[in-house]
Amino acid sequence: MRVINGLNYSYKLKEMVKECYEKAMQHPFEIYLFIAEDPDIVEQLFFQHTHYLVNIEIMSWSKFIQQLIVENHLTKHHVLTHTEWVYYLRDILNTDKFHCFSNDQPYPLIDKFIPLIKAYDLNQTDYSQDIIKNLKLKDFIHLYKALKEHCDEFTHITAEGFLNQQDLYSSYQHIYIEADHHIEAVKQTLIHQLAIQNDITLLYTHQPDQRLMNLPFHELCKEALTLNEPTHISEYLFTQKNTVSSTNEHYFTFIAPTPHQEVKRVIYSIQQKIVDEGLHYQDFMIVYPNSSYIHLLVDTLTVLNIPHSLSMTSSCVYDKSYQKIISALDCIPDSSISDIAHQLHQEELEKDYYEYLESLFDYFDIITAQEFKEFFTATYIHNHQEKSNTLDQIKICTIDKVKTAQPKHIFFLGLNETIFPALIKDTGLLLDEDIQLLRKFQITTPLNTTEQLGAHHNDILKALLQPAISMTFSYCKQTLSGETLLQSSLYKELENLLTLHPAFELNYLPLDDYYLSGGLITEKELLNKNIQDYIHSHNQPVQLSRETVEKLYSPTLSVSQIETYNKCPFQYFVQYGLGIYPTKESQLLPNELGSLVHYVLSINIDQQVDIGTIVDNYILQDENLQTKISNSHINQYFIEQLKKDLEMTLTVLKRQLKISQFQLHDKEKKVQHDIQGMHFKGFVDRIDQYQNYVSIIDYKSSAKDIDINLAIQGFHIQMLLYLKMVTELYQKDPGAVLYFNTKKRILSVNQNMSEPVDENEFYKQYRFGGYVVDDESHTVISAMDPNFDKKSDIINVTYVKSRNEYKGQILTPKQLKRLLEEIEKHIYTLYQKMLEGCITITPKGSDQSATHAIVNPCRYCPYHSVCGFDVFYNDYDMVKFLDIQSILGGEEDAV
Ligand code: SF4
Repeated sequence: MRVINGLNYSYKLKEMVKECYEKAMQHPFEIYLFIAEDPDIVEQLFFQHTHYLVNIEIMSWSKFIQQLIVENHLTKHHVLTHTEWVYYLRDILNTDKFHCFSNDQPYPLIDKFIPLIKAYDLNQTDYSQDIIKNLKLKDFIHLYKALKEHCDEFTHITAEGFLNQQDLYSSYQHIYIEADHHIEAVKQTLIHQLAIQNDITLLYTHQPDQRLMNLPFHELCKEALTLNEPTHISEYLFTQKNTVSSTNEHYFTFIAPTPHQEVKRVIYSIQQKIVDEGLHYQDFMIVYPNSSYIHLLVDTLTVLNIPHSLSMTSSCVYDKSYQKIISALDCIPDSSISDIAHQLHQEELEKDYYEYLESLFDYFDIITAQEFKEFFTATYIHNHQEKSNTLDQIKICTIDKVKTAQPKHIFFLGLNETIFPALIKDTGLLLDEDIQLLRKFQITTPLNTTEQLGAHHNDILKALLQPAISMTFSYCKQTLSGETLLQSSLYKELENLLTLHPAFELNYLPLDDYYLSGGLITEKELLNKNIQDYIHSHNQPVQLSRETVEKLYSPTLSVSQIETYNKCPFQYFVQYGLGIYPTKESQLLPNELGSLVHYVLSINIDQQVDIGTIVDNYILQDENLQTKISNSHINQYFIEQLKKDLEMTLTVLKRQLKISQFQLHDKEKKVQHDIQGMHFKGFVDRIDQYQNYVSIIDYKSSAKDIDINLAIQGFHIQMLLYLKMVTELYQKDPGAVLYFNTKKRILSVNQNMSEPVDENEFYKQYRFGGYVVDDESHTVISAMDPNFDKKSDIINVTYVKSRNEYKGQILTPKQLKRLLEEIEKHIYTLYQKMLEGCITITPKGSDQSATHAIVNPCRYCPYHSVCGFDVFYNDYDMVKFLDIQSILGGEEDAV
């Protein structure tokens, strides 16, 4: 057996093809076989020497294996079909006991097991002795052995697995094998067996140096003859050495904003070259990094009607027969797989489906019709693939398939970090540490993570050494969802190693793309004007005139309106100025449920009326609500749940009232007041009073609190302003501004189900949000929760005994006054902007994601399509992080 190594794959392949051809000519009665990664390419290389192949055959490894089976009369043997895989593994998971695998959801697990078991079989990684203590791996070997037991003497996991147990005959006297992808133990054993009778030449892309790409092949190439023609790339790629760049003129590059633009750029370049240089589609190759690029490529090529080598796949799920089987299974009783298959066979189906069902006639396991659906979905995977049958097409492939006989223009897409080269993680069944342990015991293993990366590097080198007229390397700056993408280390290395020229300018583009790349068609005057306006305005509307403002806006404001203006002036303009609202939908809206909850609480907080009756009466008075509920079972369910939740909410609220010395003073109280010349009005859900102090309470359907920093900037200010209005209305002192979240609380997962619920812990879940106003007498805190020792379960306040002081959400009267002054100052500025007609698209935002989620209004805004917020042109109005201490003064812990 002869082993040939050398890094220049294309050179080596060409030389071996030449040698094979010459020898075959000298020995016309001996048969030569070339096992190629891409037989078409090798065939083309042979045709550079001759027009006919008499005693030379070229085939792929899998075809060779099939041929060996036939030549050695092993046709009784077969490899597990996909249905057999699923059937046996389902049975094993159902009957055997495993530490880590359960049979609750067998089908997704089976999907993962199949490639792992195949790899196990090909690598002969037998760790059945007690070397590995890991339970998951013990389970896996148990699974493998159980599967082997299910297979009879003629059924096998992989073809190579059973071939290497035989004395093999092959009719080919001389076999050349491109072996980079056949390094698994079983394949190697098979090759060695063949080498006893046959003259075998193995070709590896390898050089005995330290680079990762050589790592998987060192052992296999110990006695190799080297056949190499070094190039700048083969010598320096992956060495990280600062070398003088190759002056070769055929390397190009471009950077695209997104993968979609990158794909378009490549395809338009190809079109332009075809037009300008009279080339053909077959002169081009596109190399994509991962499956996320496939639909971008297919979509763009389909729109432009360009032939390509990617097959168009449509799922069998849309077949009539497929759907017929799924529907029929709703009416079929549970039975054996065979019985159900026979019953389904009565339906009118397409031919493939009959064949599939007939293949199940010998399976007698009992199965529910429901599970049969899953079994069918997991085993019937006959997706329809359509390939372009024209010879003149663009070849599109992944890096391991880049092979070409003639020089082409090759485009390498997606040279982004973690994308190309791919990110290979240590997450397989056998982790690197397991592999290391197994190797200590001389057990063969699959490649570890570093070696897998080496094999990937090896493919990259081979691709870069293909004959090419030009190579273009591109990467993009961000994903379509806005995540930043970085250029990969490989791209940086290529930049250093080669002279990368900017890709040529595009001259032929669809109108959109022509304009996007900065082009302009002078005759399209209106389009040009609109685009110029858009660019100059940065997608901002013009300011409203004073007269328009007067006509559009009401002189009386609610605090929530000014809060909306604060969040986004344009949203305020559309909602409150133009009065445009989204169309009503059939589901219950949060504000409808909120109003209902407020109504029930306002009646029942100090009375004992049946909640069900109040809710039903409320619904009867609202025709719209009534229709929504009577037409929808889901809505009826929500209302029934809401009634139960309200029972709990009222129990908690009444308990708090009973403990507290503050007593209910008013409900749903209308308040209004002029603040800085603005007339505000609104309703306060509940006002409690104790001595000279008032506290106001707002019922909310979600967790809400006051963030002082954000309140100064106009967020959640409603209750603070209401407190000011209420204290002035009643001539009382401010006591507290509180939020009560009416949403049902879920007990922590740490709570043991068998133990009773701790009542105190339960009530703590319902603690008020908001602030208590505490003067030196601490009257409010003591009255709010007279019983608490360390931490109140009613308000957010803790008593620190060692320092005899209270901590938590507390404001001093002075701080409250300063806070209100700041808020008023802020809303006055907002009001002035509003009167000046400012309706800019400037939603609030923050560079801190948690704060952004609170302040940014866009996520739930129904006016996206109206404002057309453009990430490239519109900016967020960023909230600041203020020095609260210096603004409000006082003790640090007090706020
Ligand atoms: S989507 Fe955002 S920017 Fe547009 S109107 Fe709504 S809040 Fe304002």
